Amino acid sequence: MTMKFTFLGTGSVKAAPVYGCDCPVCQRALANTDYRRHPACGVLEVNGMRLLIDAGYLNLEQKFPPGSLDAVLLTHFHMDHVQGLFPMRWGMGKTIPVFSPDDPAGCDDLFKYPGIFDFSQKTQPFETFVFQGLSITPVPLVHSKLTMGYVFELDGKRLAYLCDSGTLRRDVETYLQTHSIDLMILDCDQPPLENAPRNHNDLTRALQIFDQVKPSQLVLTHISHNLDDYFMRHPDCLPENLHIGYDNQTWSI
Ligand SMILES: [Zn+2]
Ligand SMILES: [Zn+2]
Ligand SMILES: [Zn+2]
Repeated sequence: MTMKFTFLGTGSVKAAPVYGCDCPVCQRALANTDYRRHPACGVLEVNGMRLLIDAGYLNLEQKFPPGSLDAVLLTHFHMDHVQGLFPMRWGMGKTIPVFSPDDPAGCDDLFKYPGIFDFSQKTQPFETFVFQGLSITPVPLVHSKLTMGYVFELDGKRLAYLCDSGTLRRDVETYLQTHSIDLMILDCDQPPLENAPRNHNDLTRALQIFDQVKPSQLVLTHISHNLDDYFMRHPDCLPENLHIGYDNQTWSI
């Protein structure tokens, strides 16, 4: 069986087009919507099961007709990762389980008025659980809010989704080194910076993680207009097997 991951979004909170920005990246995204980046999130499909990973994409209901989504898995409760749930919660029909870090604050009034979503499933660091045959291990990430990355395992293949995240904790790095990763999807918000940003990776730190963990393939997400501008000016800056993520792009392992 294969794990098929499709990006719904690959953008940071300042992804092209940034409102009012006249940089070449934002102008390109305005002229051609193929270059837009929606908030970072995606859908993982395994054997007919569909798992939404983060929910910052607006108009989720247009992507997922009733009954087409089996569960939602959240990395954390920042608005750009959950905002799509707000209008959808008032829907009708089957309850959709939401797995999320145990952050009592949640986001706005989502816990008070969950609607069709059930937020009772909490993910704990390194406590593996199984959802419809898919093994999922939460790994704690360094971010300004309680955040989990997730390692999915199926038939000996592993996909790691790590967003939003600054430098990896030592125990997470060790876990990823000792559990070979076939496909890693990693937060990289900024072009190379002198000092490592606290809550996200810049390209320098993302390259370091690629070297340290050695996944077979690494795809960057949570990309800002600054980073896209850097990619425009340095089209050959990435090593082999390290890729720029794009909305609607699919990866299978
Ligand atoms: Zn811009
Ligand atoms: Zn965040
Ligand atoms: Zn974010």
